[in-house]
Amino acid sequence: MVTGSKKDLVIVGGGIIGLSTAYFALEKGWNVTVIDRITPDGDNCSHGNSGMIVPSHFVPLAAPGVMGQAIRWLKDPESPFSIRPSLSLNMLKWGLSFYLASTKAQVEQAAPLLRDLNLASRDLYIQWAEQGIESGLVKKGLLMLCNSHEMLEEEIALSQQSRDLGVPAQVLTASDIEALDPNVTLQVKGGVYYPKDCHLDPQLLNRSLQSEIEKRGGRFLWQTHVTGWETDSTRIRALATNHGPITADEFVVCGGVWSEELVRSLNIRLPLLAGKGYSLTVPTPIELPTVCSILCEAKVAVTPMGDKLRFGGTMTIGKPDHVIAPEKIRGIVKSVQSYMPRFKPQHFDGISPWVGLRPVTPDGLPYIGKPSNWKNLTVAAGHAMMGLSLGPITGKLTTQLVAGEATAIPGVADRLSPNRYAA
Ligand SMILES: Cc1cc2nc3c(=O)[nH]c(=O)nc-3n(C[C@H](O)[C@H](O)[C@H](O)COP(=O)(O)OP(=O)(O)OC[C@H]3O[C@@H](n4cnc5c(N)ncnc54)[C@H](O)[C@@H]3O)c2cc1C
Repeated sequence: MVTGSKKDLVIVGGGIIGLSTAYFALEKGWNVTVIDRITPDGDNCSHGNSGMIVPSHFVPLAAPGVMGQAIRWLKDPESPFSIRPSLSLNMLKWGLSFYLASTKAQVEQAAPLLRDLNLASRDLYIQWAEQGIESGLVKKGLLMLCNSHEMLEEEIALSQQSRDLGVPAQVLTASDIEALDPNVTLQVKGGVYYPKDCHLDPQLLNRSLQSEIEKRGGRFLWQTHVTGWETDSTRIRALATNHGPITADEFVVCGGVWSEELVRSLNIRLPLLAGKGYSLTVPTPIELPTVCSILCEAKVAVTPMGDKLRFGGTMTIGKPDHVIAPEKIRGIVKSVQSYMPRFKPQHFDGISPWVGLRPVTPDGLPYIGKPSNWKNLTVAAGHAMMGLSLGPITGKLTTQLVAGEATAIPGVADRLSPNRYAA
């Protein structure tokens, strides 16, 4: 490891959170190494997601009604949200914390912070695009599409909250929607348009960020599996890996859903469960919308990516495995044609589903900060369904915390502290 006046920083995890952290750490002039057990084009949750940047998403996953809905959906194997119950103590504790966090007061407290984080991240994505980081960024907004009056009423109420928070939102009739995106035939009652939202191609973004990081002097250690830590009383000396120990001045854990097990031996409690989801990318779609959308009742995200069209959805909370549940894939395919009638199940024939594991915290907010028992460790993980959207701002905040600076967004060290579930 290089020594001298420059800080040596090692980042565990080369997903969007690790890559964004590496980018901003290089801006500080540090020696940066990103370690990941996968290959450069290997798979993680940052690879096949829906690519949406979402200032519209100011409500965290832990919100009133979510637990009840999940329990009701347990009876429907094709439902978009489910919890795979298990008797493990970790899961029970996580479930209790999720239940306790799902209050109106918590949502009201989290909403302005999520708004600020998403808007700041959106600005950073725009700056990255201007600097030549290729991601296929499209600034055309997001449509929340409803095919029932009940859901439309809910979305209209949410759009009022959005405007109250300063995030623009327009209620649209079915014909307004048709005029906004004439490329696609829709069967909907109406919807809400969030003009600040954007979309991009996550695979293109990851590749561009990797080469930008290398161009700026960062290095990657791929196929390197972190197996433990070498420590003094309050400092980490080195990471233990399958290729031997790696020393540094500062360590950042960006291990997605695996962050909990990564830091367990350091006596850090970081509750995380996997929120398994799938995406299906149609290479030559029968219709190609220009605006990304969410099919609200079905909770399916529809994202144009160049000539392709990606459908992403479902959230099964449980242990981190990549086993595909065919009934969930059927659920996505079936729901699409009820909003987009020109799409038939046969248009999905032969398409291999992609599986991703969202790192889900019990209160729906990420962990960004320094665990209290270690002086040179920082954690950035647990972004659930907003990791792509919050990537750049997380990278910026994380490097500010490592540097001991005030954060660009106030309240982060407190509200997103990784110590909030400490025993
Ligand atoms: C279907 C679906 C659609 C989604 N759509 C969106 C969206 O539209 N917008 C949005 O904002 N978010 C979306 N998300 C969520 C988003 O993809 C995640 O929040 C984000 O990718 C998490 O990034 P990460 O860097 O924390 O984790 P990951 O991308 O999982 O990266 C973690 C990395 O750590 C490495 N690692 C872990 N343990 C070790 C170890 N011991 N040694 C070495 N390496 C290790 C892993 O190999 C991995 O590469 C979606 C998710 C899914 C599943």
